[in-house]
Amino acid sequence: TMRKMGKGDLSVRVPVRGSGELRELAENYNTMAAQLESLDKSRNQFVSNASHELKTPLATMKILLESMIYQPDMPEEVRVDFMKDMNHEIDRLTGIVTDLLVLTRLDNKEDMKRDCVDMSELTLETIRMLTPAAEQNHQVISEDVEGGLYLYGDRSKLNQIIYNLMDNAIKYTPEEGTISVSLREEDGDIVWRVKDNGVGIPKEDQEHIFERFYRVDKARGRDTGGTGLGLSIVKQMVKMHGGSISVHSEPGKGSEFVVTFPQEGETP
Ligand code: ADP
Repeated sequence: TMRKMGKGDLSVRVPVRGSGELRELAENYNTMAAQLESLDKSRNQFVSNASHELKTPLATMKILLESMIYQPDMPEEVRVDFMKDMNHEIDRLTGIVTDLLVLTRLDNKEDMKRDCVDMSELTLETIRMLTPAAEQNHQVISEDVEGGLYLYGDRSKLNQIIYNLMDNAIKYTPEEGTISVSLREEDGDIVWRVKDNGVGIPKEDQEHIFERFYRVDKARGRDTGGTGLGLSIVKQMVKMHGGSISVHSEPGKGSEFVVTFPQEGETP
């Protein structure tokens, strides 16, 4: 009475009968098939989301380009505007492709470097790097960075973590806002806090924002040049360092992201 299984058909479950080893084998098989099936589904979902994200800027560029081709006597100012829009879409495409490459490399377990990273210096460096962007928005960055904190880890990944969090804080905070960045040792852990008084995140979205391509407000996310990949990259990089990340947020009041890295070993 065995059904004929198509090769690689992950939706097939075998009947669990009797007792003993055969039953156990059947149960294990079914669990494994279910896990593989869900992995397969989430991979398909990812490819389909990625394709959609890539198609959107391409479609916009095509419309703009066709208008330019078929309206040869378009006023010069309009033509220049269209070209600026196309340039903007190219930046978006580049951003998506860059983030996708970062994610695939992380998925392929690219070697993680183990340097002794001066976290205090790295934090101050990132603050310096992002200060012009904040000033453009008339925002203030306030800092509270404890000196002499070191972590064994991958410098460029740690850099990307704090960069993405601060970049988001700046993007999702209106003008005149304040971004507070702190680095401290708390109960033997090294802790980053990035706090803003921006738009905040509704409770029901908070558990999803670390998922790939998830945005609270699709339209606004696009305007701010987001890809919806930043936080999923952050989460994976934090995990690679044995750390954890959490968010506290209230719509209209602001958000705080907290990254905690346990320090390995005993201090001498
Ligand atoms: P994006 O590229 O869209 O910024 P992220 O993965 O970095 O993607 O973030 C996912 C979503 O989480 C964002 O689209 C935004 O809705 C929300 N978000 C992230 N950081 C903040 C923040 N500091 N304040 C408010 N919303 C935020």
